[in-house]
Amino acid sequence: MAKVVKFGGSSLASAEQFEKVGSIIRAEEDRRFVVPSAPGKRYKEDTKVTDMLYACYDLAERGKDFKNELAEIKKRYDEIISGLKLDMSLDDEFKEIEKNFKSKAGKDYAASRGEFLNGKVMAKYLGFEFIDAATVIFFNDEGAFDAEKTQEVLSEKLSKMNNAVVPGFYGAYADGRVKTFSRGGSDITGSIVAKAIHADVYENWTDVSGFLIADPRIIDKPQKIETITYRELRELAYMGASVLHEDAIFPVRQEGIPINIRNTNDPGNSGTWIVGSTGQKSKYTITGIAGKKGFCSVNIEKDMMNSEVGFGRKVLQAFEESDISFEHLPSGIDTMTVFVHQDEFINKEQKVVSAIQRMAKPDTIDIESDLALIAVVGRGMKSMRGTAARIFSALAHAHINIKMIDQGSSEMNIIIGVANEDFEDAIRAIYNIFVETCL
Ligand code: ASP
Repeated sequence: MAKVVKFGGSSLASAEQFEKVGSIIRAEEDRRFVVPSAPGKRYKEDTKVTDMLYACYDLAERGKDFKNELAEIKKRYDEIISGLKLDMSLDDEFKEIEKNFKSKAGKDYAASRGEFLNGKVMAKYLGFEFIDAATVIFFNDEGAFDAEKTQEVLSEKLSKMNNAVVPGFYGAYADGRVKTFSRGGSDITGSIVAKAIHADVYENWTDVSGFLIADPRIIDKPQKIETITYRELRELAYMGASVLHEDAIFPVRQEGIPINIRNTNDPGNSGTWIVGSTGQKSKYTITGIAGKKGFCSVNIEKDMMNSEVGFGRKVLQAFEESDISFEHLPSGIDTMTVFVHQDEFINKEQKVVSAIQRMAKPDTIDIESDLALIAVVGRGMKSMRGTAARIFSALAHAHINIKMIDQGSSEMNIIIGVANEDFEDAIRAIYNIFVETCL
């Protein structure tokens, strides 16, 4: 058995948190490969080391003095080192970083030092070998992750080792220049390492005990999702759920490796399992509810639209020309509605409208703003009659007007459009009907 364990920033924010992480790793011999983030927030108003590094490098880039800022960052690590009573110093590393900041080594290099240094501390603390991610994780010249080269080098390297620490978030171009993933990217590194060693499990340790059925800011103490499939998670993620970096799914998914989201502060909790497919029924008909406010609907009508070849293409081209992606596309016989993000659309509204007029020559174009979309997702919906009916009657009872309904052909999700102001009430009504009344 081999597990890859990734720890997020809040799990590694202080010596105390490191100790929790140490006992989690030592509790199971299978936890052989460790991927740490940079130290995160110790308390709500605290600053993540990654953000401190960005700010510090910003000064360096503008030719300003950055000594104090760098010293503050070093203090964060020194506190961890002394709290853990480790016999190590990062003096040399910080001298090197200072030199590289002065010679403007780049923003990505700067940000990556958070994980690099934390990896060094972690390796020392655990007695594991440290591997610089820049030597095993690669990006191509266009800046895209080079999965093939990485897999080759990384799996070769790790196959000879019993355990190791690989810092998250960064890798390097072929010429050795450091490049990071997008923010939260240590999740991706964990997934890549899991793939490289054909791990049995990728454990992703964070500060929550897995995914919740609904947003806890809207529902008081929502229940946890025990098991979710990758596809269900995608449906929920794209509406705004945010425990795991979206791109972290792909490497492990290719290998069929499950991800287990766990809580460093509550290690006895089994967390949430993310799996390829499962015969396990979810406790409720739905697996999760997620949503987002701030959409516009552009409603286009034209008589005989359904028989006009190329109409949809022309409409979508109008959006494409303004570089606007669409979120949903429900249609009727003579109508087509395009849901877009309001903040992206609003400044380009008239440009898009005139392009639609010019290219598709519709009878009318009607725009409605301040809409919210809610995704109700669940693999259990497929085999259940009446799911949609229950959603709609719950919303009707809550006096909520439904503006749009869209059921994906996978029968795994139903998307509902409501007014922004009805968003929270709609989620509560749906949660209540499926979870509280437990049908
Ligand atoms: N430290 C990086 C960030 O704050 C990456 C990560 O934590 O995954 O975004």
